Amino acid sequence: FMSSKKDDKGKNIQVVVRCRPFNQLERKASSHSVLECESQRKEVCVRTGGINDKLGKKTYTFDMVFGPAAKQIDVYRSVVCPILDEVIMGYNCTIFAYGQTGTGKTFTMEGERSSDEEFTWEQDPLAGIIPRTLHQIFEKLSENGTEFSVKVSLLEIYNEELFDLLSPSPDVGERLQMFDDPRNKRGVIIKGLEEISVHNKDEVYQILERGAAKRKTASTLMNAYSSRSHSVFSVTIHMKETTIDGEELVKIGKLNLVDLAGSENIGRSGAVDKRAREAGNINQSLLTLGRVITALVERAPHIPYRESKLTRILQDSLGGRTKTSIIATVSPASINLEETMSTLEYASRAK
Ligand code: ADP
Ligand code: MG
Repeated sequence: FMSSKKDDKGKNIQVVVRCRPFNQLERKASSHSVLECESQRKEVCVRTGGINDKLGKKTYTFDMVFGPAAKQIDVYRSVVCPILDEVIMGYNCTIFAYGQTGTGKTFTMEGERSSDEEFTWEQDPLAGIIPRTLHQIFEKLSENGTEFSVKVSLLEIYNEELFDLLSPSPDVGERLQMFDDPRNKRGVIIKGLEEISVHNKDEVYQILERGAAKRKTASTLMNAYSSRSHSVFSVTIHMKETTIDGEELVKIGKLNLVDLAGSENIGRSGAVDKRAREAGNINQSLLTLGRVITALVERAPHIPYRESKLTRILQDSLGGRTKTSIIATVSPASINLEETMSTLEYASRAK
């Protein structure tokens, strides 16, 4: 799936890079471009030195590279489609968006609405991974005649506390408790987490809007909420097929779509940045995720899942027979060079 090469067979973690176009701020600052994206060669070349410094270059290779011109549909087709096939086969998978605040994590995961209202949400070219995936699940499963049901939940982690963005309660600040699942060694139970049944694709958009409204309230209550919180959107599909012999085959697949906190709190070595430490802003979940991925890549005997809320929640969908994609988002501009380098280094370590 990730690659047909034999030596890559055991490879379950895929790392891709997406570079957004310049924004207005970067243009105003006359910031120049320090990134070249070679999608064919799957390379990102960073100019680390001065504008005319030919030697100050560093090249990274990833599983895929999307330049500033890449569209939402391109990312969906190349990254998400193969993962969704795995989920429909009954596996648990995870897609992360990792990167500095303002580089396109939310744009990639959720997307936006075109302003001219010319499109319905499901046709909108700016729609991101979440709406596209839900739409596709209904399309694919209805057409092959499987009996199925779809449930979604939207959980956010801020300062190692859990918030339910789909709960019917108007109280946004209500924290959820989490326990180990006595019946599932790799699972946790999040008490009271709302799991909403989605009956058809038309219900999807309302659910997403409900989450967005709660998130807005949360950001007025909690400091720097949008850059420090992790958002975990999970889709669980129960499928029932009847074989020719009349035997019933039940499959359960789960896909976690995770919009991570801004990577700017973590320094290049994976250690906590001095500024972040002084601000009392150590992001345990982001830090531990890096360690868990490194341990998985190195096939370490101990994987430190238990050291953060995020990795405990995702334990049944990370490692083992699961596929993980990390989409590292970066800015092309020289003013963000330091953070871009740090994101590319982090992403390289996860390969
Ligand atoms: P993050 O979630 O990483 O903080 P956002 O997704 O909010 O970043 O993106 C920041 C801004 O950049 C938004 O205005 C968004 O529309 C824009 N943007 C991000 N990625 C792209 C892209 N690939 N193409 C066009 N605009 C983008
Ligand atoms: Mg965001």
